[in-house]
Amino acid sequence: MNRKYRKTIIAGNWKMNKTLSETKAFADEIKPQLGKHKWCEVVLCVPFVNIPAAVRMFKDTRVAIGAENVHFENSGAFTGEVTAEMLKEVGVKYVIIGHSERREYYGETDFTVNKKIKAALAAGLHPIVCVGESLEQRELGVTAELINYQVKCALAGLDATQMRKVVIAYEPLWAIGTGKTATAEQANEVCEIIRSIIRREFGARVARAVTIQYGGSMNAKNAAELLAQPDVDGGLIGGAALKVPDFLQIIAAANQE
Ligand code: PEP
Repeated sequence: MNRKYRKTIIAGNWKMNKTLSETKAFADEIKPQLGKHKWCEVVLCVPFVNIPAAVRMFKDTRVAIGAENVHFENSGAFTGEVTAEMLKEVGVKYVIIGHSERREYYGETDFTVNKKIKAALAAGLHPIVCVGESLEQRELGVTAELINYQVKCALAGLDATQMRKVVIAYEPLWAIGTGKTATAEQANEVCEIIRSIIRREFGARVARAVTIQYGGSMNAKNAAELLAQPDVDGGLIGGAALKVPDFLQIIAAANQE
């Protein structure tokens, strides 16, 4: 983390978990324990149907609500999809774009990711853009090239003002939901590569200001070490964001003086 130049963001990605009543139970449990978390922004990305209720449940807190996906068009015949404007109007602040599960199961590509980022920004949302390599790609030694390709495609056509509103999440595929975490050094190394790509494309001041998260089996035990890395500005957290005590410990790790 580098609190001098950029915001630390701890974001939960609930994926396809928690009904409305379970969302309420989570909110009731966590709200009294949240504290000020003055050093980081806390975000909960929840399933579409629970967004309006989650916004109401957390309205008196500093927890922002995010979505897990968005379509790139403004309207039209796209059955089952949701626009950025729809999300904005119900109180969404962040939206995850290009999660590896969306890329793997729903055919999301670097080009749809780019279009979705532009749609999200146009509606005033902050995209959390996921990039990351598979185990095969890491073992082949092409992580840096792949990340360069993914980040360049994702951010193509954005200007510096737009870029400042984007969050990048480095999520190695082999670490998502596997219990296998990248070492703090591996996480920092790739977050640093991402920052250097942003520096090259948008300049040093923008690169210094952009929040770059790590995601992939971050949990109550390993969060402090990962977040202590200079280029890791927060976490995108799946499994551990579903349990109040674990999520609170990660938030606490981000707030250590
Ligand atoms: C994720 O889904 O973005 C994620 C990082 O999941 P997990 O923390 O469960 O690995």
